Amino acid sequence: MGEVLGQGGDDEPVVCLQCSTAKIPCIFRASLIAQCLSASNGECPTCKYRYSTPGPQPSGTLVIAKDHRSCSGYADVGSITLTYRLPGGTQSARMLRPGQHYRGTARIAYLPDNEHGAEALKLLTKAFRNGNLFLVGDSVTTGQRNTTIWAGIHQKTNLTGGTARHGYPDPTYFDRLKQECASRGIYTDEHEGSLLQNNTSSNSAAAGSVLNSKSNSDDSDSVPLEEAKTTADSVPVFQPQEGDTTLESRIDHLTLLLNKAMADRDIPVIRDLMKQRNACQARKKVVDENGDERKKER
Ligand SMILES: [Zn+2]
Repeated sequence: MGEVLGQGGDDEPVVCLQCSTAKIPCIFRASLIAQCLSASNGECPTCKYRYSTPGPQPSGTLVIAKDHRSCSGYADVGSITLTYRLPGGTQSARMLRPGQHYRGTARIAYLPDNEHGAEALKLLTKAFRNGNLFLVGDSVTTGQRNTTIWAGIHQKTNLTGGTARHGYPDPTYFDRLKQECASRGIYTDEHEGSLLQNNTSSNSAAAGSVLNSKSNSDDSDSVPLEEAKTTADSVPVFQPQEGDTTLESRIDHLTLLLNKAMADRDIPVIRDLMKQRNACQARKKVVDENGDERKKER
């Protein structure tokens, strides 16, 4: 993450973070920055660049293979299988109940063998290496305690059956996957590279612009190609009303804001927007189902 520059005052190493620039130097004592990064979920205290932080996933293996069978909706290509094996063990300090035993798990997930699948595979492998795919918890579905469960990045465990069976087809799956990964600071290396480049170029274009991004101050000329930044302060909160007919447009709008927040790598905003959108989607589902019932009654 950073380069060791030398010894600090008390024989302590001083590090220069990758996000550091001439205008905004991000140089800290090693122990101080280690504390800051873990307390702030990987956010550089000076320029606010967000590093991804390792999750509390138990150790295990991921085997990636090709399969001739197709995912529903992708008939012209085969699939990629991701086989996860996480054996049980004793919970570490970062797990739910340190010292207690936990059960392992074995899961298989599927991706279509095309460009979307390849991009998703990069994200999922990165998230796995970073410890963001599984965690030790209590299963809502089986009621089992101290067991290895998904950590909130959704995967397709069926080739078919649609969303109801965690399978394909699911037209918005890849967008949601990217958002779920982004909410944990996981981006593809390509995306990561361009974000870091944007961060450093806007740093040098207008010193302090990144520092101010949280307050939505008028730093628009530092990022000429983007619209105004979406920040925690400016995110409108949508409260779905009874019989709301514009839920769909709200969901679309939230998706738009989400994409902006992803470009800004603003993890708290991404999480907030996802929560809002999930609420809208849940509401829409209820409205849709009620509508169907009314039709049946007629
Ligand atoms: Zn920095």
